Amino acid sequence: MTNQGTVNTVTGVLGGDQLGVTLPHEHLICDFTREYRGEGIFHDFPTMAAELDAASQAGVHTVVDLTNESLGREPRALRDLSERTGVQIVVGSSFYRHQYAAARLYRMPTKDLADLIVQEITEGIGDTGIRAGIIGEIGSDQHIEPVEERIFRASARAQHRTGVALNVHAARWPIAHGQLDLLEEEGCDLRRVVVSHCDTVGSIDWREPDDVLKYQLSLAERGAYVEFDTLRTASRLSDPEMDRRIRYIRNLIDNGFIDHVLLSHDIFFTSHLLSNGGGGLTVATTYFADRMRDAGIPQGQIDRIFIDNPRRMLTGS
Ligand SMILES: [Zn+2]
Repeated sequence: MTNQGTVNTVTGVLGGDQLGVTLPHEHLICDFTREYRGEGIFHDFPTMAAELDAASQAGVHTVVDLTNESLGREPRALRDLSERTGVQIVVGSSFYRHQYAAARLYRMPTKDLADLIVQEITEGIGDTGIRAGIIGEIGSDQHIEPVEERIFRASARAQHRTGVALNVHAARWPIAHGQLDLLEEEGCDLRRVVVSHCDTVGSIDWREPDDVLKYQLSLAERGAYVEFDTLRTASRLSDPEMDRRIRYIRNLIDNGFIDHVLLSHDIFFTSHLLSNGGGGLTVATTYFADRMRDAGIPQGQIDRIFIDNPRRMLTGS
């Protein structure tokens, strides 16, 4: 087990009270070009340093980079970025969706995959000495592919053995319960699991307009965090799109689940960056926080969402 109340960052172990305002789902150095040629790649150090400086000015202290090996993780570059900008960075482990699975993942037994993930958390990533602080993002599309099932099982075992948080990608389709079932079977603590992209899951049944609200509540009822992380488009969002996300947050608050809400941007396209006219890493804590205040959500609750919830998710306390 890692120490309760602490988290590995790329520059060392931090206590929960040192994390401050935290963005729980971003990508800083990444390569999504297996699906998105042209746009889906960040590998420019000065550009990303400027994006992190802007985030810092917007009040962000810590960024979780859910870029694991499948997505072109660069631990040393992340450490340099953190030292250069002062923004604390937590980096992910395990492996992404099947489209990104390297050939060796099809050959490695699930047990060996679990051992590799544990090693990245307890000893370090490769020979860098830099330790991962979270498992993720792992994920699937509408159906869980065999290699993805093995990644889920290995990740769950590694979560059980290390006690770190785990983040799943569950976009567009309401598929997270099947993912949580797999994790639970392998002994994963669902109170440390984040379901990403909940704001991309549209109406599940068009005859029942509130079914998506029920889906979000049902995830929180199982103990998981419900993450709304596509605020990257907020600078271009229409009022109904903005109001939809406020309504999701209010629904969780009104039903007693404020402790399960997480907000982030999930930037991974060059067009998401401030330098290219996007919102970068600054929308959540400025523009969207203003919208939450306008909607009557008190500052104390906003602080819980940006500070207390990520701290508890990452450190367990
Ligand atoms: Zn994702």
